[in-house]
Amino acid sequence: MNAVLKISLALAVSIWMASCSQLDSGTPKKNSAPIAVTTAAKPPAQVDAARLLHANNEPGNWLSHGRTYDEQRFSPLTQIDADNIARLGLDWSFDFPTNRGIEATPIVVDGVLYVTSSWSMVYALDAKSGRLLWQYDPQVPKQWDVNTCCDVVNRGVAVWKGRVYVGTLDGRLIALDAKNGQPVWSVQTTATDKPYSITGAPRIVKDKVLIGNGGAEFGVRGYISAYDTDTGALVWRFYTVPGDPKKPFENSALAMAAKTWKGTNYVTMGGGGTVWDSMAYDADLDLLYIGVGNGSPWDQNIRSPGGGDNLFLSSIVALRPDSGEYVWHYQTTPGEMWDYTATQHIILADVSIDGAPRKVLMQAPKNGFFYVLDRTTGKLISAEPYTKVTWASKIDLNTGRPVEAADARYKANKSSGVLFPHALGGHNWQPMSYSPQTGLVYIPAQEAPLIYAQQKGFAYNTKSWNTGADLAKLGLPDDKTVREQLGKIVRGHISAWDPIAQKEVWRVQHNNMWNGGLLSTAGNLVFQGNSDGEFVAYRADNGTRIWSTPTYTGIVAAPISYAVDGQQYIAIAAGWGGAYSLVSGELGTRSKGAVNRSRMLVYKLDSKQQLPIPETVERPLPQPPTQKFSAKTLDTGHTLYMRNCMVCHGDRAISASSVPDLRYMSSDTHAKFDAIVRGGLYWQRGMVAFGDKLSKPQTDAIHQYLIKRAHDLLDGNE
Ligand code: CA
Repeated sequence: MNAVLKISLALAVSIWMASCSQLDSGTPKKNSAPIAVTTAAKPPAQVDAARLLHANNEPGNWLSHGRTYDEQRFSPLTQIDADNIARLGLDWSFDFPTNRGIEATPIVVDGVLYVTSSWSMVYALDAKSGRLLWQYDPQVPKQWDVNTCCDVVNRGVAVWKGRVYVGTLDGRLIALDAKNGQPVWSVQTTATDKPYSITGAPRIVKDKVLIGNGGAEFGVRGYISAYDTDTGALVWRFYTVPGDPKKPFENSALAMAAKTWKGTNYVTMGGGGTVWDSMAYDADLDLLYIGVGNGSPWDQNIRSPGGGDNLFLSSIVALRPDSGEYVWHYQTTPGEMWDYTATQHIILADVSIDGAPRKVLMQAPKNGFFYVLDRTTGKLISAEPYTKVTWASKIDLNTGRPVEAADARYKANKSSGVLFPHALGGHNWQPMSYSPQTGLVYIPAQEAPLIYAQQKGFAYNTKSWNTGADLAKLGLPDDKTVREQLGKIVRGHISAWDPIAQKEVWRVQHNNMWNGGLLSTAGNLVFQGNSDGEFVAYRADNGTRIWSTPTYTGIVAAPISYAVDGQQYIAIAAGWGGAYSLVSGELGTRSKGAVNRSRMLVYKLDSKQQLPIPETVERPLPQPPTQKFSAKTLDTGHTLYMRNCMVCHGDRAISASSVPDLRYMSSDTHAKFDAIVRGGLYWQRGMVAFGDKLSKPQTDAIHQYLIKRAHDLLDGNE
């Protein structure tokens, strides 16, 4: 089982990104049906408080990220159902002019679809025809990629009173005029001298636009901000970890949180706790729920020597949306040190438990347990593992705390042993869906192990990842048999989960992990795109696979459904990418969809459009120089590659993403290697200079390792 530990860690200092293809206009592929202009009746994006509060009464629209404030991602539309699904076909598609990961949930308001692609680019499309109405490119500097852990993705926009709001990778929040995509205001929500990024979708509550950020792999202090939708003025900010204890705390909640931290390393290293994805709002209780991320650094021995719970890491926190005032929290992973974020999708539902009506909050965070909380109080109702879990045996319902495995906490000279789940989680950002019709939560779950080990001689460095866990120890070994064994273990599945009984009702097993988010509909359907390049429908009640279509690219985003002129559509933003695609190397290449073709795909009954079948393009053979290496240099080169390059270019120099596979470097690239890596020759494409971090002998060792890997490839030895 020792072999199992050699799995690639999935997070990503970005070094070398694929150059974004020319950012010319995207290409709509139009339906043969006549195009009706459906948007002329009223100004676009007229979404207000009343509409958002009653979004469930507008099944034809998808007004906010999770469709309704409770983020259930359930469509009440019934025109497409389990009996007529065979008639579902492609109606239109729209090619995004980018080639990195696509994670966006589209918003649909009165016949207009608003969606984002990688690099925080925004598109308004006619939801019936796919015609491009406008597009907006915030011109994110490509070199900001180096400050992102998990691809240059964006998970979507929010709309409100004629405007469209987007958070950009480099930390801006921008309000666009929904009529033409022109910026109305733009604010920098983060310190530009720190490695913050925004990939999450904003939410809007009562004339405030809410936005968090990411960066906890590098070393930042997490927070969520509320801005005035009209002016862009900051209304409030809630930090999720305490600041310098020598200075006054921002509020009493942080004074309480500070008692759960030790030392002051977290002050200089950031502490983490970024709010990079999930939120939900309960108007009756007037509570905003946020999901909080992992510690920074991961290793608690460094971050908070001597332990402590380290609030509010890996917690769900309830806030007052008007003021940002703290109301309650529930911490899923006290003293977090495995990248077990609680930023995963939060769903609110009103259910009956033991005959009593309960207002619950549900989450399947990375740590592998499915939590049901009373969202009035934050008290834990139940928690059970939804995937393979070994870091803890259970969650104690009396204390609300996990019962950790004896060896789970790694420290100096002692690794964690094989732990499930992996740092990429039993479930990551890919949205779940809750059907009030079946009472089931559909979870895009995954099964993967990791061994965590402390990095010897770790020193905090503002220009790199700062997990404290050694990236060099986390890749696959050269032993082919071991790699094949591991490949059988690392997989994904859909779990249809009964949240009341806390048990799985049915499961669809996938061959590979990192599949798409989910949509359930009142037509007894569940939709999911997968990493093998398929878009698939299952019966919601029993999981039977009843429809599929090829997409020629892996899908990680979640589908939506909407209607225009009485016609129901199913829509998905397709395009392989994200953290796993960057780091996974050989494991990622097993997915048939591990190639990025970014496009919006929209389906309806009785349409028969076809996507062009992609031509197979032969890749030029590697052109490595002939060279002899010492085993010691190769070992050094491998270690340095894993710590500095792997998080973008992939484990063992095998790329499963659009980022260049360095084994295939041309003779010209080999000749320029030092100018590129240390000199920053390609900085405008995102490959920034590493000259102040790596010495010439170090990059020489990396280069020799890459030359060796190119020869491996030519020799037929992957
Ligand atoms: Ca993380």
